[in-house]
Parts: sequence; C-alpha cells; structure tokens
Amino acid sequence: MKGKPLADRIRSEVAAEVAQLGHVGLVTVLVGDDPASEVYIRLKHKAATEAGFDATDVRLPAATTEEALLARLAELNASDDVDAILVQLPLPAHIDEAKVIRAVEPSKDVDGFHPLNAGELYLGRPALVSATPRGVMALLAEHRAELDGARAVVIGRSAIVGKPMSHLLQQANATVTLCHSHTRDLPRHTLDADVLVVAAGAPALVSPDMVKAGAVVVDVGMNRTEAGLLGDVDPGAAEIASAITPVPGGVGPLTIACLLENAVQCARYRRGELVYPG
Ligand code: NAD
Repeated sequence: MKGKPLADRIRSEVAAEVAQLGHVGLVTVLVGDDPASEVYIRLKHKAATEAGFDATDVRLPAATTEEALLARLAELNASDDVDAILVQLPLPAHIDEAKVIRAVEPSKDVDGFHPLNAGELYLGRPALVSATPRGVMALLAEHRAELDGARAVVIGRSAIVGKPMSHLLQQANATVTLCHSHTRDLPRHTLDADVLVVAAGAPALVSPDMVKAGAVVVDVGMNRTEAGLLGDVDPGAAEIASAITPVPGGVGPLTIACLLENAVQCARYRRGELVYPG
C-alpha cells in the first residue's frame, strides 16, 4: 500500500480547493533548531506552497520564553489572515507543551491536538483530526480494507497517533485493542489482528511471525538508524500480510497530504462554510 499515489491525488484536490477559496493562510511555528523538526517543517512548507497556500514559516530561538510564545499565538489566533496554525513539537523543555497546545484557537488547530478536537474525536464527532491517523484511514479506505466487525490492533498510545487511530478504527466499527509498552505477550494480540497499525517508534518490533496470514498491516514507524530509515514492522511481514505499507513511502506522504486537508477545513470553518462544534 504505497502512500504516494493517494497523497498526490489528495494534494491536487486540496490545490483545487485552495484556488477556489482564494487565500488560505497556514502559519507554522518552530521553536529552536531540532534537525528532525526542521526537516518536517521544510516538507510541510514545500507541500503547502505547491498547493497554493499562503504559508508563513515562523522561526523562534530556542531561548524563547513560554510567555513570548503564548503572546505570538494570541496574535495568530486573532489574525484574519491566518486560517491554520501548527506549532511543531517537541518544544524546548522549559516550555509547557500542554499549555501551548491549549493556547491554539481550536478551529485553527490544523494538527487536531487541542483538547477540544481530541475530545470531539473521543465522543465520536471528529472535527480536526490528527493528520497521521487521518491519513491511515484514507489509505485503508483506498485499499478497501474491511473494517466493519474486523479485529484491529493498534500498537502505541500517543495522543498524536495511537489514541486517535484507535478511536477512528472503533468509529469505523472495528473491534479495537490498543497495545503499548506495558502490554504483556504482544504476539498474542497481533496474531489476532485483521488490521494491524503499528506506531511504537521501535525498529522491527513486529516480526513476520507476529502477523496473522492475510492481515492488513500499516507501519507508521519512522526510525532513523545506522541502517537507514526503518519502520516498526520487519519488511519480511510482507510475505504473510495481504497488504502492507512500505517505509519510507507509506504513511509519511499521507500525513502531509492530510495536514493540508485539515488546513482547508480550518479555512472553511472561518468562512462559515463548515460549522465548528461548540
Ligand atoms: P511516542 O513515542 O509518543 O509513542 C510511542 C508509543 O508506542 C507509546 O505509547 C509506547 O507505549 C508504545 N511503545 C513503545 N515501544 C513499545 C514496545 N516495545 N511495545 C509496545 N508498545 C511500545 O511516538 P509517536 O509520536 O506516537 O510515534 C510513533 C512512531 O511513528 C515513531 O516512529 C514516529 O517517528 C512515527 N511517526 C510517523 C509519522 C508519519 O507520518 N509516518 C507521523 C508521526 C509519527
């Protein structure tokens, strides 16, 4: 299940919507100079600019105070030119991440990390949903993976990937098991999975003998190792699964495409074409 063809299609649909909307303002905020974050920001900007967004790349020094960052976010929240705001994580240790996530206006929260957006998803009324799990659902739909009544296992319970993923699968009527670092006997769970989504950040955590024959496997993991970029699933699992995502070139391109979709959704909230919950 390659991600790029679907991601390209989504990106061209987004570009058409942006052209029709006229102006869609996306602002990213990067605090400090974490090299991995810089790469992500660069990729997001390239994609946003290609799709016709007015994308602004705000860079703040690592020593920026929490107060100064919150003041900057308040300005962006109030600005009519800004439809969508993304604060790149992780933030430097002296800044309270939860406080910053809460400070983004929920209808401009393109990452879907604000407690209101997380809460709406939890309640089964998704508004802005984290781009990676949204991308995984798009990929599963594209490949007509049977979710209704299926046994789905998610490995990883982060607020960014694992948890929203488990809610989306549950809302698609799968029976979901959420595994994490304290789960005992992981293979007992994975071997039962018709759909297995792995987002643990542990290279080759899932070996071929942990995969049920014919399962659909989505590898979200992106681990930079001496051997290069590795997923969380041993590529040998492709022999057992009916479908599997490659790393790289699987979920990654969809994360960016779905982030752009979210930004268009933010713009539609601001224009009153969509009603933000609450
Ligand atoms: P995280 O570190 O916040 O969470 C990892 C989760 O995995 C935790 O809940 C932990 O309990 C669980 N876990 C860790 N080791 C485990 C083990 N041995 N057995 C069972 N569970 C285990 O990470 P995250 O932000 O959710 O990201 C997970 C992975 O997905 C990372 O490799 C990250 O780089 C990647 N990622 C990729 C994309 C993409 O676009 N492809 C987007 C986001 C994250």
